[in-house]
Amino acid sequence: MYIVQVASECAPAIKAGGLGDVVYGLSRELEGRGHCVEIVLPMYDCMRYDQIWGLHEAYQDLSVPWYGGAIHCTVFCGRIHGRLCFFIQPHSDDNFFNRGCYYGAFDDAMRFAFFSKAALEFLLRSNKRPDVIHCHDWQTGLLPVMLYEIYGWHGMGTQRVCYTIHNFRHQGVAGASVLAATGLNNPDYYYSYDRLRDNFNATAINFMKGGIVYANYVNTVSPHHAWEARYSDVSSGLGHTLEIHNHKFGGILNGIDYDVWNPDVDRFIPHQYTADTWDIKAKNKHALRERLLLRDENKPIVCFIGRLDDQKGVHLVHHAIYYAMHRQAQFVLLGSATAPKINDWFWHEKHFLNDNPDCHLELGFNEELSHLIYAGADIIVVPSHFEPCGLTQMIGLKYGTVPVVRGVGGLINTVFDRDHDAAHPANERNGYVFYQTDHPALESALDRAIGLWYNHPDEFRQLSQQGMQYDYSWNRPGSMYVSVYDYIRHK
Ligand code: ADP
Repeated sequence: MYIVQVASECAPAIKAGGLGDVVYGLSRELEGRGHCVEIVLPMYDCMRYDQIWGLHEAYQDLSVPWYGGAIHCTVFCGRIHGRLCFFIQPHSDDNFFNRGCYYGAFDDAMRFAFFSKAALEFLLRSNKRPDVIHCHDWQTGLLPVMLYEIYGWHGMGTQRVCYTIHNFRHQGVAGASVLAATGLNNPDYYYSYDRLRDNFNATAINFMKGGIVYANYVNTVSPHHAWEARYSDVSSGLGHTLEIHNHKFGGILNGIDYDVWNPDVDRFIPHQYTADTWDIKAKNKHALRERLLLRDENKPIVCFIGRLDDQKGVHLVHHAIYYAMHRQAQFVLLGSATAPKINDWFWHEKHFLNDNPDCHLELGFNEELSHLIYAGADIIVVPSHFEPCGLTQMIGLKYGTVPVVRGVGGLINTVFDRDHDAAHPANERNGYVFYQTDHPALESALDRAIGLWYNHPDEFRQLSQQGMQYDYSWNRPGSMYVSVYDYIRHK
């Protein structure tokens, strides 16, 4: 099959969170299965050019219709760790992708509407006719709309779209000008509730809703989150739309790339190990302490890695820092915040805890350090408010770092409580789960994990090794996506 992924991220060159990992990991898995995969991305000024090989101009004069005129673009081609990628570089005063950041600009809706249009125009003009176009998140929600309403009439009538929603929180809500810009003329038609009109703001269109309505298959990134999206409020107003399109909606758990996230081959950690050589993990713990100037004492290290965002349960993350120290554990945090309030809060904590030998807060994005933390810590907390899939608990498991998670979304599909999981026998359990959003809930789970580390080290080791045995690679999700592609191609 010939598959084109259209996305706003691809790790490690462009990564703001899990989306980048997924686009890269899934593409690699599909290629490994013999499919032809290409990835279309924006050419950001701030992406990591050192992670792209052989970047060169592939298509010089791409003219993308925009409002009444057109924007001239150059398309570059290069490989991100072996994956064939095309980067769209527009030449206009809008400077859509020269903003020093991936997201967060005032005109994000326009930037990514343009990107979706340019990606289609590129496929059309370069005579690429993939069997399946796989789009991701709100940024590419308008792509299936334009494919069906415009490009289908220009020779792209047989292309099918799989649309994956990684996060319902950001949906791309914009005004009618986006329709005018992208050539989706006839606003009355698109403003229908059956099509793009936002379910709660009658004056706005919703990119993600467009993706759901027009794609041939829609999925979110874990079975439990798919259920939550339909029956709880986590789909941020799209529950009704999902209900209507239920026949083509499902949940496929993300995988992780075990060539990147594997303590046996990880080049970012000083001492490689496997479940059989588990004792070597302690050397990485030592290295982590040396690097972060933590004192070397017989204590467990609890860590958190992730965006500091309401979604991630920041108030529980904050509480975990102090509770872990209160329970004689050390705490390491690696995270970055986009919201100024949260950023200020954690910088304040960082200064406050600066001289504490049992705690280190690293504020910023640091891929390399994240590997060392996964390898060196004993316990990883993921107290998310909601979590479509969550990669950090799966990576933690692979590194023998016992996850303590809140029972939501993909966390519930991947972590099974050591003491209370009726569905899994004791030798298949791999962490701790709590459900409420208050401090005592987190404390009770963290307490059990730290207690096991101190009082029953052999059992803690066994729990950690059981987690390492789990296979959360792309193998299973890869075959599920292939089945989806096959299904939409032939239906
Ligand atoms: P989300 O996609 O919601 O941000 P996920 O758990 O799906 O969360 O994916 C997070 C990914 O980003 C993981 O690979 C994690 O290691 C990485 N990550 C998050 N924050 C940081 C950071 N500050 N530095 C390095 N890596 C990070």
